[in-house]
Amino acid sequence: MTEQGKERGTSLLDKSAAELADLLAAGETTSVAITQACLDRIAAVDTDIHAFLHVDAEGALAQAAASDARRSAGEPASPLDGVPIAVKDVLATEGLPTTCGSKILEGWIPPYDATVVERLKDAGLPILGKTNMDEFAMGSSTEHSAYGPTHNPWDLDRIPGGSGGGSAAAVAAFEAPLAIGTDTGGSIRQPGAVTGTVGLKPTYGGISRYGLVAMANSLDQVGPVTRTVLDSALLHDVIGGHDPRDSTSIDHPWASFAEAARTGAAGDLSGVRVGVITELGGEGYQAGVQQRFDESVALLVKAGAEVVEVSCPNFVHALAAYYLIMPSEASSNLARFDAMRYGLRVLPDGDPSAEDVMRASRDAGFGDEVKRRIILGTYALSSGYYDAYYGQAQKIRTLISRDFEAAFEKADVLVSPTAPTTAFKLGEKLDDPVSMYLNDIATIPANLAGVPGLSLPAGLAPEDGLPVGFQILAPALADDRLYRVGAALEALLEAEWGGPLLDQAPSLSDVEPVETPGGAA
Ligand code: GLN
Repeated sequence: MTEQGKERGTSLLDKSAAELADLLAAGETTSVAITQACLDRIAAVDTDIHAFLHVDAEGALAQAAASDARRSAGEPASPLDGVPIAVKDVLATEGLPTTCGSKILEGWIPPYDATVVERLKDAGLPILGKTNMDEFAMGSSTEHSAYGPTHNPWDLDRIPGGSGGGSAAAVAAFEAPLAIGTDTGGSIRQPGAVTGTVGLKPTYGGISRYGLVAMANSLDQVGPVTRTVLDSALLHDVIGGHDPRDSTSIDHPWASFAEAARTGAAGDLSGVRVGVITELGGEGYQAGVQQRFDESVALLVKAGAEVVEVSCPNFVHALAAYYLIMPSEASSNLARFDAMRYGLRVLPDGDPSAEDVMRASRDAGFGDEVKRRIILGTYALSSGYYDAYYGQAQKIRTLISRDFEAAFEKADVLVSPTAPTTAFKLGEKLDDPVSMYLNDIATIPANLAGVPGLSLPAGLAPEDGLPVGFQILAPALADDRLYRVGAALEALLEAEWGGPLLDQAPSLSDVEPVETPGGAA
């Protein structure tokens, strides 16, 4: 155990991925040193945070050593070569457990890498481990993980958001400079909002889904989880782009997102039209969330942006449509967990039929939320109700896309608070599914329409001192605008705070070091 594991403040852990990349390029540190610092930090704080389901210390250090060798030979594989990363446990990783936060996949070790994981490896990013999540990415708090919840580094009694609470908490607790998340209805952006981190959901088809265990294929997207907007852009440049193995992947000549973020950081937004979405704010939004949002909008005006108010009247139906479409697709996807091909198999006594084994295995292997959604989805798709529920929801989806189209005629980007409240207490909404679902009211429309969205920290709510997220949305294929506007706002906000928001987070240095789950250091 080095001191770096215990103390944040002056160490490599505090650096952004871009800063680490610069230090590596200048020969001032090594990937092994950075990776070891992260593993030490994980060993020191992760029993309290529980961001990781599996830590691969040995694998990460071997990848780090290979990165250092490439660098000594003058052949770094990418701008992020040597910068370690954590991966949400819903992406297939060859040789490393992949559970999706579910008992039904306990012990499953995929024989292949997801495209995103393959790209991380090709670009030289050591993989620290797999992060905790709500089971099969269903939830907004990470409390639906079969392996116990993740805790918010700002307040250990509070949720880190979900479903990707593990990835967001790992980055917010300085256990990893970068992480990968997935976002079906907000699972990258909402955890970003409540942990004071940056999260981006790309344009649908912008980042490969190959090897992402599907929850709802028409909504799911992989994306970066980081501490800065530039880091998100750098990571997006590494993992994005066409993949012939994903039939929904877009073959588009993406320009450098890092370039867009660097342009934005200069802080000039003259000529940019920003639309404030009427329906995503005001009543139902915590006062401090609304206040920080309004202040950020004022900063955009100061940077030269022209702010208009836009109405998206069908957004009020987005949550209802999502909670029919998502469970419908999930009920079909989760049929593959039948105890025959992967993971858990429960054998009832006597002479059980295949159906008996499936029933017993699914009963024992799936948690309540997953069962709830399978039942809901199966019902919505059943022949007597298909038109009334699934068909209607698809019509709403079209209307929401049209609302976006109309709004993007008036504005280049749209903005809203990312989530209606700051992090709530663990247990507070666990028995009330609808109040849990309401957390995604502002993030879901982007998934239904396939447009990209970014959440970045907008400050701390005055009433509870917890992080507030600011959401920026752009038209499909215009992800670069999120980076430009996001980096500008981030620069202006940090000038007011005198540094990154996460500098104000508890250091967790009083946490007693323990053995890392998974056997690290
Ligand atoms: N919280 C939403 C849900 O429970 C979104 C989940 C996600 O984006 N994976 O479905």
